[in-house]
Amino acid sequence: MLQKVFECKRCGACCAGESTVSLSPQDIQNIASFLKISKKEFLEKYTVLKDKSRIEMKTQNGYCIFFDLSNKACKIHPIKPFKCKEWPFPSAIFQDKENFEIIKNSCEGLKHFSWEEIKFFKNIAKIKNNSKLKLK
Ligand code: SF4
Ligand code: SF4
Repeated sequence: MLQKVFECKRCGACCAGESTVSLSPQDIQNIASFLKISKKEFLEKYTVLKDKSRIEMKTQNGYCIFFDLSNKACKIHPIKPFKCKEWPFPSAIFQDKENFEIIKNSCEGLKHFSWEEIKFFKNIAKIKNNSKLKLK
């Protein structure tokens, strides 16, 4: 049995950049509750409106405003946005090799995975729940 486990290398690449994660209404509700502030306050303090409709986290020093640079960790990890939770395994990674290569090139933890290994991975739910990739 071949088994590989995905390990985040804490490179911070997925939290870096001038454009950050888009937030769903549920994300906004969850994070505001976690921070014990109103949705209005959360939106004003921590987010920015892009393209007139997309709400994104603000950035600070080239990273998402919730990225803890010294510990290389997310300050709101327990309730981080859906897109952050699924990374680096969004559904697109399983669709074709080109998508896989793009995502692989932006994530240190995926460097030792091949497209063949990703292709044979069946249990997506397990990845989302455990952040572990197991191949049999
Ligand atoms: S919310 Fe957390 S995991 Fe998501 S981009 Fe910001 S710091 Fe990174
Ligand atoms: S890009 Fe990959 S290895 Fe780097 S912090 Fe994000 S999930 Fe972890």
